[in-house]
Amino acid sequence: MKFLKWFALILLSLGVLIFAAFKFFPGEMFLLRSYLPDFSAKSFITSSNEIPTEETTFDELMENGAAVNDSLMLVNDEHPLPENYYPEITGYNGVSMNPLAEKGYVDLKNDVKKKFGKNLYIMSAFRTPDEQKEIIESGNEYAANVYSSEHLTGLALDVYVKYYAGAGFIDSEEGQYVNEFCHNYGFIIRYPHYGEEITGIPYEPWHIRYVGLPHSKIIMDNNLTLEEYIESFVPGAVYYYHHYFIIRQDPEKSFFVPKNSYNVEISPDNTGFYIVTGKYK
Ligand SMILES: [Zn+2]
Repeated sequence: MKFLKWFALILLSLGVLIFAAFKFFPGEMFLLRSYLPDFSAKSFITSSNEIPTEETTFDELMENGAAVNDSLMLVNDEHPLPENYYPEITGYNGVSMNPLAEKGYVDLKNDVKKKFGKNLYIMSAFRTPDEQKEIIESGNEYAANVYSSEHLTGLALDVYVKYYAGAGFIDSEEGQYVNEFCHNYGFIIRYPHYGEEITGIPYEPWHIRYVGLPHSKIIMDNNLTLEEYIESFVPGAVYYYHHYFIIRQDPEKSFFVPKNSYNVEISPDNTGFYIVTGKYK
C-alpha cells in the first residue's frame, strides 16, 4: 500500500512537471523538436569519439576528387539566388533540368509506371529569370518572386499525371506515392502541408525538389522543411547518419572529416556555408 502511494505521487509529480514545461516554455519545446539534438535521438549522432577524423580544407577535398554541385542551395525570399546565377542544365525529353534531378526523376518515373501503369509528366522544370517574370506577370498565384524561385536552379520539378495536375495531384494514387516516397529518389516535397508557417508557401504536392540522399530521407522522415534542416546544423560539427557524414562548413576555415571518407560532395547552401556530404569506411 505504501509503495502504491509513492508510485502515485511520483506519477503525479511527473505529470505536473511535463504539463508545466509545455505551459510555460512552449517555444522552447517547439525548438527542441526542430533542432538536431532531437533528431539525433532518432537518426543522428552529433559527435562520436569512436570515428577518427582528420583536418582538411575545401581545396584538399577537391584535389582528392570531391564533386561540387548545387543540390543543397536554400532558395527563398530571405535567400534569393544571385542575379548572375546560372545552373548546370541538361535536357531530358525536351525538358531542361539539373542533371542530378534528371537521374532521380527517371527512376521515380519508371517506378510510377511499373506500380500504377501511368506516366508521370513534368509541367515545369528549369526556368530562366525571364520565364519566371512572365509567370508572375500572368497572375499565377503560386509563382515565387523571380530570384526566390527554385525553378531557376533546375532542381525543382512540377509533376503530374493525366487528369491530376496541381493541387489535384495528391488525389491520385500516383501523387500519393510521389509525396510519400520521393525521398527514396533524392527529392523532397519542398512546400509540405506541415511547413507553411516556415516556408511561407502553402502545400504544393506537385513541386518536388532534388536535394540528394541522405538529406531527402532525413528531411522527410522528420517532417522538416529545407529551411529548418539547413539551419539546424552547427557549423563545423560532424554529423553522422548511417554510413554518411554531413558537415555545414565556413569555406574560409579548415575543418575535420572522418578518415577514409569517399564519395564526397560539396554544395553551397546559399546562406554563406557549404554542406559537405560523404561516406566513410
Ligand atoms: Zn514548382
